[in-house]
Amino acid sequence: MGRRRVDAASADRGGSSTLRVMRAWQLHDTTGPENYSLDEVPVPQPGPGEVRIALEVVAINHLDLWVSRGLPAPPTLPFITGADGTGTIDAVGEGVTRVSVGDEVIVDPSLSCGRCRSCLAGDIVYCPEYGILGEHHPGTLAEFIVVPERNAVRRPAGLDPEVAGSFGLATGTAYRMLRRARLTAGDVLLVVGVGGGVSSAAMALGRAMGARVFVTSRSDDKIAWAVEHGAEAGFDSSDEFAKALKAASGSSADVVVDNVGPATWGQTMRAAGPGGRIVVCGSTSGPKVEITMPVLFFKQLEIIGSTMFTHGEFAEVVDLVGSGAVRPPIDRTYDFAQLPEALARMDAGDQLGKLAFRVR
Ligand SMILES: [Zn+2]
Repeated sequence: MGRRRVDAASADRGGSSTLRVMRAWQLHDTTGPENYSLDEVPVPQPGPGEVRIALEVVAINHLDLWVSRGLPAPPTLPFITGADGTGTIDAVGEGVTRVSVGDEVIVDPSLSCGRCRSCLAGDIVYCPEYGILGEHHPGTLAEFIVVPERNAVRRPAGLDPEVAGSFGLATGTAYRMLRRARLTAGDVLLVVGVGGGVSSAAMALGRAMGARVFVTSRSDDKIAWAVEHGAEAGFDSSDEFAKALKAASGSSADVVVDNVGPATWGQTMRAAGPGGRIVVCGSTSGPKVEITMPVLFFKQLEIIGSTMFTHGEFAEVVDLVGSGAVRPPIDRTYDFAQLPEALARMDAGDQLGKLAFRVR
């Protein structure tokens, strides 16, 4: 879909120095997603080193559901969530040098102190002050957002704004996971529980990195969708998928992405072959798993935790998506006012890829 011009109503509110208020989805309580309301709030002003982005497309993640349930609670209420977005810089604070008014940018959702040893080494994910837009700092579910200039990454020319505004958090997370698991061309990659943002991004990235990609799901429709999007085959998550993988691929998995946890963990350990790497960034079916120790040491498996990504990893993902090498799937694009409908779809686990919103 092509870009749309700013309509008259939002031009009155935005796009000029006279702008005072904007629409934003604010969370008013942490008892669930019914506490979001579309409010008019003051437009944020950029301070030194910060830029303001007039958002064009934004997207939601499971994070927006978790925060609405207080897992974790936001720093203040009401609070604007949202970690993904793309738009045009419309104001800059003092001392900004990397970007200018008029630049089309993608929001990098990682925040860090910029001064500690981890930050100076580029390992911002280990910064004691590490945070995420929409969880620790007001997010993208608004007409405008103010971020530090380094969080505004130039949007590659020609990249569809719906893709640009929706891939960030999930694809960045999946990219770091596959990097930490040392996925290489020709590897067998098994993505357990496909359909959500991170798992579908892992599938798309795995293909682009030259791996043979297999998936599991409890839904035949999701497996069929994954096969249409480049997976070789898919298996039932609630069945013995380790055997099914071996039958279909002739091999065990070199890398398993499992964000499901206890419901699939036994099969995941079986599905990983000698020297296999199991990489985890979440655990949707519960917080604890059992590890059969002989399986761990005889097969010399590695279990790798991963969370978020560095600015450097985000820049690499922007290049991969911008070049067309990776196209993170989009489930639906909604009007900005349709957030409750989209949150309900995500809460039900029905989506196949990202849920995006046109802000203007
Ligand atoms: Zn730091």
